Amino acid sequence: MADAAAMRAVAAIVSSDPDRRYVVVSAPGKRSPGDIKVTDQLFVCAREIETEGNCEKAFAPIAERFRAIVAELGLSFDIEALLSRTRSQMEEIGEEAFTVSRGEYLSAVVFSRLIGYPFLDAAEFVRFDEEGNFDAETTNRLCSAELKKHANGVIPGFYGGTQEGKICTFSRGGSDITGAIAARAVLAGLYENWTDVNGFLVTDPGIVKNARTIEVLTYSELRELAYMGASVLHSEAIFPVRISNIPINIRNTFEPENPGTMIVPDYSRKIPENVITGVAGRKNFAVIQIEKSMMNSEIGFARKVLSVLEEMGISFEHMPTGIDTMSLVIEGSQLEGKINELIASLKAAVHPDCLVVKEGLALIAIVGQGMCKKSGTAARLCSAISRAGVNLNMIDQGSSEMNIIISVRNEDYEKSIRSIYEEFVPA
Ligand code: ASP
Ligand code: MG
Repeated sequence: MADAAAMRAVAAIVSSDPDRRYVVVSAPGKRSPGDIKVTDQLFVCAREIETEGNCEKAFAPIAERFRAIVAELGLSFDIEALLSRTRSQMEEIGEEAFTVSRGEYLSAVVFSRLIGYPFLDAAEFVRFDEEGNFDAETTNRLCSAELKKHANGVIPGFYGGTQEGKICTFSRGGSDITGAIAARAVLAGLYENWTDVNGFLVTDPGIVKNARTIEVLTYSELRELAYMGASVLHSEAIFPVRISNIPINIRNTFEPENPGTMIVPDYSRKIPENVITGVAGRKNFAVIQIEKSMMNSEIGFARKVLSVLEEMGISFEHMPTGIDTMSLVIEGSQLEGKINELIASLKAAVHPDCLVVKEGLALIAIVGQGMCKKSGTAARLCSAISRAGVNLNMIDQGSSEMNIIISVRNEDYEKSIRSIYEEFVPA
């Protein structure tokens, strides 16, 4: 929705298929790499309102963008009145969530004029509770009832409201969640998510040039890849559609013929030929290795270790265990300034024979439901890593048998991914 041309492209896509009935829009994004998203500008407005009581300066470029879009689209409605009313409300209400939600609001009002579908305000049917937590079941009831009344409609993404009408937002990128909510509410045959790339790539194109697009993957594979940083779709967007087994199709607005990536409930029809679906990873983890002989027979050992983490407010990612060893994989940022205290508390709690902390590690997940059908995957993975001249710190096959997670040093991250890609993805 970045500019008038993009809005026109979206309108053409919607109109080309009468089954495309409800459209969830986001705020105008970047028009070029150096550009600023409207939502980011709105965060600046929120700060300006807090300090100055108004957002005259920060709102000006936003108003200009919408003015230009409306003019270029040749729409005849009073955009000035809409802009000045919106700005006054932002200043009056003075709440960040309200302010930053207005990008989607304005975008949806404009797009509904362009396409001629009614504007359906998410504040009325995307429900948050008083604490600001999303209420999925009430939302589904309200949204379903509302959408039933309209054959089609334009819905602003990213925000909703409490029963009292206070605006709340999802986390950044949350329009994807609103799309999934609407799809579930009408039991849609398909949730299309139109974006500016051709779908999910097998791996980060910044590391492997011309990485392939994933044609099909399952909800579970997506969860694993998204957790590891593949960020085309908001990681929470699958929850609403998963309840009703609605497939998601990621498509490119600027290349509408491209089939994109299909995200399906499972491979019930066809197990994929590829051993792996995707490779993703993240840097800056720490592993705490605790060794104690006869750990396996010491009742309550894991509980004591985990209580220490709980008391210190530290969450962990994985916990691979051996007979006399237990490792905790923890995000590096969680340990800042806490590492010495953590070590001391763990020593006091379980008296280990040995406790080692390794920092600066990257985790790499190779994900694929085809993996469990093929033997030798772990062996191929290990040899790919050793061919890259990299030392493997840890290897952990998830009990779901659809992922293997390894850890390597941060500096070996990119070359490991390249080597894994070469091993598993046919040229
Ligand atoms: N506009 C919001 C953001 O920038 C939500 C979205 O784009 O999905 O995060
Ligand atoms: Mg998005």
